[in-house]
Amino acid sequence: MRWSQTLIPTLKETPAEAEIVSHKLLLRAGLVRKLTGGLYTFLPLGLRALRKVERIVREEMDRAGALEVLMPALQPPEIWQQSGRYETAKDVLFKVRDRAKKEWVLGPTHEEVITSLVASEINSYRQLPKNFYQIQTKFRDEIRPRFGLMRAKEFVMKDAYSFDATDEAAQESYRKMYDAYARIFQRCGLKTIAVEADTGVMGGKFSHEFMVPAETGENEVVFCENCSYAANVEKAVSRVSSAEKVKSAKSKVQSPEKFATPGVQTIEGLTKAPYHVPAEGQIKTLVYIVESKPVLLLLRGDDQLNEAKVAGALGTPTFRPAEPEEIFSALGAHPGSLGAVGVTNHRVYADEWLRGSVDMTTGANQDGFHLRYVVIERDIQVGQWADLRVVQPGEPCPNCGNPLKVQRAIEVGHVFKLGTKYSLAFNALFLDEAGKQQPAIMGCYGIGVTRTLQAVLEQSHDENGIIWPISVAPFTVCITPLNVAPESQVMKTAEKLYADLTARGIEAILDDRNERPGVKFKDSELVGFPIRVGIGEKSLAKGEVEIKPRAGALIPMKLGDAFEQVVKLVESSTR
Ligand code: ATP
Ligand code: MG
Repeated sequence: MRWSQTLIPTLKETPAEAEIVSHKLLLRAGLVRKLTGGLYTFLPLGLRALRKVERIVREEMDRAGALEVLMPALQPPEIWQQSGRYETAKDVLFKVRDRAKKEWVLGPTHEEVITSLVASEINSYRQLPKNFYQIQTKFRDEIRPRFGLMRAKEFVMKDAYSFDATDEAAQESYRKMYDAYARIFQRCGLKTIAVEADTGVMGGKFSHEFMVPAETGENEVVFCENCSYAANVEKAVSRVSSAEKVKSAKSKVQSPEKFATPGVQTIEGLTKAPYHVPAEGQIKTLVYIVESKPVLLLLRGDDQLNEAKVAGALGTPTFRPAEPEEIFSALGAHPGSLGAVGVTNHRVYADEWLRGSVDMTTGANQDGFHLRYVVIERDIQVGQWADLRVVQPGEPCPNCGNPLKVQRAIEVGHVFKLGTKYSLAFNALFLDEAGKQQPAIMGCYGIGVTRTLQAVLEQSHDENGIIWPISVAPFTVCITPLNVAPESQVMKTAEKLYADLTARGIEAILDDRNERPGVKFKDSELVGFPIRVGIGEKSLAKGEVEIKPRAGALIPMKLGDAFEQVVKLVESSTR
């Protein structure tokens, strides 16, 4: 490719709309352009890089035995009603109407479509296992599209769906995908950690997210440096530490005592004078609405509610915080004075860290009053003890007790054991060896292909621009002649090297623009080609050219050796 003939609109200035470095680089290096919020056009270089990520994904999925298919992005809403997700996923579903005013859905994911297919095409255990995948555009009406390709309204995903006859076979399919993911991200030059992820109401350990550590990530992962424990913060647990519990003799003899706390609305308010009740000595009472009924969630005052864990405890993902009127009609007081002492008509869930705590302070269900000397097991009718809290850095690892660390990260992929939810909903049944009908056991596996591409930039750059791993670079070598007059020795040398590299199958771009050397060098650094070969009059007079690996030092090289040297560099880093 000749630079002058393609379109690489590099930018000196950072566009104001970009908040994170990878988004800035996508725009500055001329890889993509925004059409409008959450919608991007891939320009020639961006598309080349995207195709490389896709190719790696395809090769590894094929290697793992998955079968490529392509499903419609436009889907009938009936299948979404059949799975129940027309309701539960309604917030992200894009809907369109045809000329007859009939509604359609733009697919945010494809469980419904693939399971319908399998229901009609597979009917015997002899046809299993099967794993189908596609690389396709997805549509999601995200609340907050942002960070360029990271959270877009339309993006490219690789999604795969496995179907198995037995639980052991399903586990094997899961493991194959897990291993394929590790290879895919490694080949893209990405450092990832696989973390246990929330399985929603399913429970179990069959969900892992592949995370790229990055301060700008929207996720938080909790991990242990001593053992292999790593989990999404939504799922992470720590050892319940009994030493943390507040103990006091006083409440053993004293029943709860009401005291006036005028104007105190928060946990923090009660920690101050004249009350001085430490946050860990308070019970935080939250009211949520589940199936139109209020439930009470109790946490220690210094803890934060983890909504993913709440979903697990409640057994449903559909719940919401109660409105102030709903709270008042449930408990007779306003937020700030709520408590569960004496509450018998609403279900109470209490966090495990409260178990056994005594001498606690909580709202009295009367505005402006609290209760002290509360013994949770004596004074509160707890319906269910559960893990409801967010783990904090430094708490003991659940496996080994070492202090846990917390790190922000970008989720690039997700493997998930689905079980039989969709096969039952769509009658994806097969006859087992004994001739008995069984639902197929499913798994689903997603990779955000466009997000992965951007994650590479987030992880691999310096102050001058992108540092592409060769495996996904739009071009491997940038040839930079400093004189582009067709008859000049410099340009002739450049043309020859370009032809030789191309013939050898190495992807090269020839910067044939009549620009100052500074501009050309800056652009090639910004775009981040892995190897630059600079050809100028002065060095050529000495029979030399300059090889510059993007992240390394400049190497002067005899012209006669330049081709072989470049080939060596490329081959050593792609092996
Ligand atoms: P997130 O929590 O980031 O919204 P998700 O749990 O909704 O992700 P999945 O439904 O598991 O994601 O989709 C598989 C992959 O698709 C994700 O791991 C992520 O890499 C990518 N992805 C999801 N939503 C988007 C989006 N709006 N824009 C770009 N990539 C996305
Ligand atoms: Mg999402």
